[in-house]
Amino acid sequence: MPIADPEAMKIVEARVLNKLVCRRCGALNPIGATKCRRCKSRALRPKRRKIGIKK
Ligand SMILES: [Zn+2]
Repeated sequence: MPIADPEAMKIVEARVLNKLVCRRCGALNPIGATKCRRCKSRALRPKRRKIGIKK
């Protein structure tokens, strides 16, 4: 799904980054969560994946 609009790309990027990923089960949790909503683990890490923006 290519996104041409740079403004839309920023919004998408922010949404993707504003997630916490559980190290145990891999579930996505909302930012600010202290425990995984699926397995109750506290091993959450911020999701950081660089999104390549081709110019
Ligand atoms: Zn989990």
